[in-house]
Amino acid sequence: MPGLIPENLLEDILSRVDIVEVISGYIPLKKSGRNFKANCPFHHEKTASFMVSAERQIYHCFGCGESGNAFKFLMRHERMEFPEAVEVLAKKTGVILPEQNKPEAARAASLSSQLHKVNELAVSFYENNLHVPGAASACNYLLSRGIKLQTIKEFHLGLATSNWDSLINCLRSKNVPLSLMEQAGLVLPKDAGGFYDRFRNRIIFPIFDIRSRVIGFGARVMDNTLPKYINSPETPIYTKGRNLFGLNLSKDFIRDADCAIIVEGYLDFMVPYQEGVKNIVASQGTALTLEQIKLLKRYTHNVVMIYDGDTAGEIATLRSLDILIEEGVNVKVVPLPKGMDPDSLVRNQGVENFKAKIDNASSLFDYKLNILKGRYDMKDAHGKSKIASEMLLTINKFDNAILRGEYIKKLAEEIKTSEHYVLEELHKLKSPVPARQAAPEISARNKPQINPAEKLLIKFMLEEKELIAKVMQELSPSDFQDSRTAKIVSLMHDLVIQGKNIEPSVLMNYFSEDDANQLVCETMFMPDLLDQEKEKAINDCIARIKVERLKSRRQHLHVQIKNAQSSGDELKLNRLIQEFHNLIKKGD
Ligand SMILES: [Zn+2]
Repeated sequence: MPGLIPENLLEDILSRVDIVEVISGYIPLKKSGRNFKANCPFHHEKTASFMVSAERQIYHCFGCGESGNAFKFLMRHERMEFPEAVEVLAKKTGVILPEQNKPEAARAASLSSQLHKVNELAVSFYENNLHVPGAASACNYLLSRGIKLQTIKEFHLGLATSNWDSLINCLRSKNVPLSLMEQAGLVLPKDAGGFYDRFRNRIIFPIFDIRSRVIGFGARVMDNTLPKYINSPETPIYTKGRNLFGLNLSKDFIRDADCAIIVEGYLDFMVPYQEGVKNIVASQGTALTLEQIKLLKRYTHNVVMIYDGDTAGEIATLRSLDILIEEGVNVKVVPLPKGMDPDSLVRNQGVENFKAKIDNASSLFDYKLNILKGRYDMKDAHGKSKIASEMLLTINKFDNAILRGEYIKKLAEEIKTSEHYVLEELHKLKSPVPARQAAPEISARNKPQINPAEKLLIKFMLEEKELIAKVMQELSPSDFQDSRTAKIVSLMHDLVIQGKNIEPSVLMNYFSEDDANQLVCETMFMPDLLDQEKEKAINDCIARIKVERLKSRRQHLHVQIKNAQSSGDELKLNRLIQEFHNLIKKGD
């Protein structure tokens, strides 16, 4: 992320932009002391823990940890790439990004916008095809599948005719280069040279991203030819499994309902949607991916899955369950009878019936157990143990001990065995951690708990640049035991030496990882101290970090001494022991 666009331009933009104005363009902010507050747009909450500092030009959520500067907000909230966020804010602040200096990444962003435009042209082309007299049969096909005319228009459904080159000709007449059509995945090269339309004789479903830009297409046959669906290939703007179909339209409904219904296909989405079930998305594939779940988690932590009533649907649901649980999402499942899908359920039994099924969705426990009961014999001891071990794989994914306990109790009851045995099996699954213990120095640096003295000292240094030199006389960046704090201190130190700006909002342009950013923002929202308390607090922090440094040096020496002992290296051992004594005597 850093280094591609000249630093001075980034700083220029950040110094002119008002993060409060940027963020309040998307969510309502309320004044709260020196800062602004809101319900976090990145996780679901009822009381505001999302803070914005006008003074520091940063935001931080105390609930989910999401934090950053104005660029980062646009990247996260609007799913922009970094160069795109820079472009948007440059425009807003009147900073001119020189064309010839446009870095590679910015060019990539402009390729993305070109591809979006080509796709848009293709959408209108396909859409027009569907609304000419000759397309009556395609239109009738959609109507016969229960799709209303209004829905056809709302989703910009279209038609690819049986011609091999009609899209190519249309785009050519609009001066779109063939190379761009190919990069958009709309055309394919012929063996004999030249190109042909990828989609022919199919209904076209444009796929929109969360910002309602067309990123790809799904295309469905109107008869029983196989394959039933073909989709756009992976392109610079379309990656399978990164998007959720319909989320651009349903995200606000999902947030309001605090629940998302997940279906598999386009029609499974559209039929309930047009009947008023608006908090719905389609996964467009079999199992949900981690990226899709993360995307959804910005709006809700509750999902109901309703997949096709066939083996593929069952397997996809089971695979998704474990990732959902690992991501802390509450999940319920609606099992459908064989041969039925959400689309046919709504058409044949009405939307009320669909809603009732959603309300009465099974817990994931009951759902999985039912499937396993169908596979294994509950009366047989081996069957029971199979069921238990597969259920435990899922139960083990729960982070929450109380939930795990409840499910263990339930599982023991279901398979009529003692809870004690179930627990014993669960313990076998818990992975031991000897691999990490083998390298104590490293694991100590990566432990998630950060010494409060390190955090506080970073806050002071960020607030008072002059302090950095003073602290660096006493400590070095490597004395900070946490890898994140060490990274921040070392960066601040380098920047100060180079005479550069270390404003928190600028500092985070240098980090590619979220955790360092998060820490910078978090410290900025820590309560301020009175001036007269500050001096003492700074000295206390330095002293405490020194104590920790001594402790870790001792530990390190201790390990080295042990190693020297076991390898029988007398000379080294004596030197290390001497060093150890010196360290203790010195007490530094
Ligand atoms: Zn949050």
